[in-house]
Amino acid sequence: MKCEIPWPNGYKGVIVIQLTLRQKKIIEIVKEKGPITSEQIAAQLSLTRATLRPDLSVLTMVGILEAKPRVGYYHTEKPLPFFIGDELRQLKVKDVKSRPVVARDDVTIYDAVVTMVLEDIGTLIIVEEGGLLAGVVSRKDLLKITLGQADIHKVPVGVVMTRCPNVITISPEESVYEAARKMVQYQVDGLPVVVANSISAKEEKKEVEGLEVVGRITKTNITKIFVELGAGIY
Ligand code: ADP
Repeated sequence: MKCEIPWPNGYKGVIVIQLTLRQKKIIEIVKEKGPITSEQIAAQLSLTRATLRPDLSVLTMVGILEAKPRVGYYHTEKPLPFFIGDELRQLKVKDVKSRPVVARDDVTIYDAVVTMVLEDIGTLIIVEEGGLLAGVVSRKDLLKITLGQADIHKVPVGVVMTRCPNVITISPEESVYEAARKMVQYQVDGLPVVVANSISAKEEKKEVEGLEVVGRITKTNITKIFVELGAGIY
């Protein structure tokens, strides 16, 4: 969590702190029950006041909680943006990814459109034998080809797809923040979630190394998380 600390001389310093589980619990209690005294918080957590003191100091210092004499602690409601950044970095792609919808590169443009409609997706992931990533096809890739004279019942998606190694991917262990950052940087709506793997390919009669597709993460996943964070679910 990043916090701006105003210094007495007018400078502003930024510190990054990681909230502990106990600090998160304190915030939840104060949010729900505040104003609440430190004795009451301690009782809820079955801890002593002395044990809680450093946590309460940190939380008031960074402005998450405020303390009023003879009233108790209450939540300032200010730091939600800090929490969102914090949680997005902790949340992993594997926790939120969707099932991949894949096709081979020889399916026709027509069939790709039908799959997108039936599966309610905006990007189709194209795989080789064994589920290794070959490319991606977006809605606009498909729309563009309909502007020409192409026979959509004959032309394969391989003609319009963005091919590896130009496909931007993410691993299940990376953070949701990193996924969102890549989508913004590369101006794409989604990323295949992949792990490096080798498979024995019948077609090539040998071990083939590549990126096995294990999921997908899209702007829709990110928007859902954003709404859940706003509602206090994460
Ligand atoms: P749309 O084209 O429907 O607006 P995108 O913005 O996701 O959807 O796609 C823009 C272009 O980027 C398309 O040509 C598509 O093939 C390509 N593309 C989509 N996803 C990726 C990705 N993960 N990596 C690289 N290119 C991608």
